[in-house]
Amino acid sequence: MFESLTERLSQAFRKLRAPGRLTPAEVQAGLREIRQALLAADVHYGVVRDLLARVEERSVGEKVVESLAPAEQLLGIVREEMKRAMGGETAKLRLSGRPAIVLLLGPAGSGKTTTAGKLGRYLQRKGRKPLLVCADPQRPAAAQQLGTLASRLGVAFASAVEDPVTDVSRAAERARRELLDVVIVDTPGAPPGVTPPPFVGELVASLSPSDVLLVLDAMVGQEAVRMGEAFASLGITGLVLTKLDGDARGGAALSLPTRLSRPVVFVGEGEKPEDLEPFEPERMADRILGFGDLAGLAEKLAEAGGEAVAATAARVREGTFTLEDFLTQFEAMSRAGPLDQLLARIPGLGKVAQDQEIESELRRTRAIIQSMTVEERRDPHILGASRKRRIARGSGTTVQEVNQLLSQYEQARRLVRGFGKRRMPPGWGGPAPVTR
Ligand code: GDP
Ligand code: MG
Repeated sequence: MFESLTERLSQAFRKLRAPGRLTPAEVQAGLREIRQALLAADVHYGVVRDLLARVEERSVGEKVVESLAPAEQLLGIVREEMKRAMGGETAKLRLSGRPAIVLLLGPAGSGKTTTAGKLGRYLQRKGRKPLLVCADPQRPAAAQQLGTLASRLGVAFASAVEDPVTDVSRAAERARRELLDVVIVDTPGAPPGVTPPPFVGELVASLSPSDVLLVLDAMVGQEAVRMGEAFASLGITGLVLTKLDGDARGGAALSLPTRLSRPVVFVGEGEKPEDLEPFEPERMADRILGFGDLAGLAEKLAEAGGEAVAATAARVREGTFTLEDFLTQFEAMSRAGPLDQLLARIPGLGKVAQDQEIESELRRTRAIIQSMTVEERRDPHILGASRKRRIARGSGTTVQEVNQLLSQYEQARRLVRGFGKRRMPPGWGGPAPVTR
C-alpha cells in the first residue's frame, strides 16, 4: 500500500538530510519534490496546492532553515498537514435509532457487498447484533452473494429485492422484533458516472438512516472524487475506501476527505471479512511517510493472540519487549494472517521478501528462542560462546544464525524504542537496514 508514493517521498527527504543546515533554496527544492511526488501519486491538484501552501507557510514560521535537523522538522510538518488533509480526527459511525440503519451506496464494483459483510462482522465483534439486507434487484446473484457471506459469518440476513423500499422497511421491523440493533443495507451500484436508480433516493428519504456510507475504490485514484460527486445529493455521512491493499499511490485517500467534505470512516484492505479497519488519519499519514504502523500491528497481533499477545503488544509500544515477547509475537503472526501485510506495518520493512522465505526464517527464529532457557530469553546478555553453541545445536541452526537473531532483536528493540519516544524511527531517511 502506497509503495510508490512512500518511496518518492523518502527520496525527497533523504536529499534534505545532508548534514548541517539547509539554504532556503534547498528547502524550496525539497518542497517541489514533495509536490511532484503527490501529483504523481494522483492526489487532486487542489489538495496538493493547499497542503503545500500550508507546509511552506509553516516551514517559514517555524524557521526550518535555521533548524539543526531541518529534514526532521519538515517531515513533522508534512505529517501533520497530511493528517489534516485526511480529516484530522477519526470519524465514527453514528448508529443512532433502534435499529440503527446503515446504507451502503457507491458505483458498481466498488466493494459495497464485500463491505456490507465486513461491517457485519466488525459490528458483531463490537457486541452489536446486525442484520444484513440485500436491496439489489438488478443482479440476481447479489442476494445470494450477501446471503452466503452472512451465513458464513453467523449474521442474520434478509433479502429485499422484490420491492426494495417496502422490503427494507419490513426488514427493519423484523430487526426491531428480533432485537437486532443494526440494519446494514447493500444497494445496487450504478455504472461509473451514472446516478444510482431512483429507489436508492427513496430508500434514503423513507428510512432516514443514521449512516449513509459511500463506498469508493481507492485504486481509481482521484477519479474517485468524480465518481463520488454523483452521489452528493443522497445525504452521504461518510466514506468507505476499499482496495487500499492494491493502491500503490494514495491519491484517493489524500484527495477524498477534502474534495467530498466527508470523513473516511473505514478502509478495506483485502477481500476477506476481517480486512476492514477504522480510518485513522494520523496512522495513515505515518504509513504514507513510511513510518510503519506499529499501533496497527500491535492490535492485529492482539486480536490473533489473546491476552499474552496484548501484554506483549503493550511492551512493543513501550519499547521494552523481551526475546520471549519476540517469540509470542512470531507465534501470533503465524495465526494473524498474511505476513506481508503485517510486516508492511513495521517501519523500514515496507518491502519484504517472499512469504515463504519469511516463513522459514520464522521457523528458525522460533527454534532458536525455544532452545533457550527462560533466563536466557529474558536477558540475552548472558549468552556466551558456549551457551550459543548449545542453543545452535538444540535448534538445528548455527552460532552465526543465533547471533543474527540476537542482533535483529537488539535492532528491533532500539528501533521501536526510538519510535515510541519520538514517533519517528531514528535515522529516518529511507528504509532502515533491518538484518534478516
Ligand atoms: P459491489 O459491486 O460494490 O458490491 O462490489 P463487490 O463487493 O462485489 O466487490 C467487487 C470486487 O472487489 C470483488 O472481487 C471483491 O472481492 C473486491 N474487493 C472488495 N473490497 C476489496 C478490498 O478492500 N480489497 C481487495 N483487494 N478487493 C476488494
Ligand atoms: Mg454488490
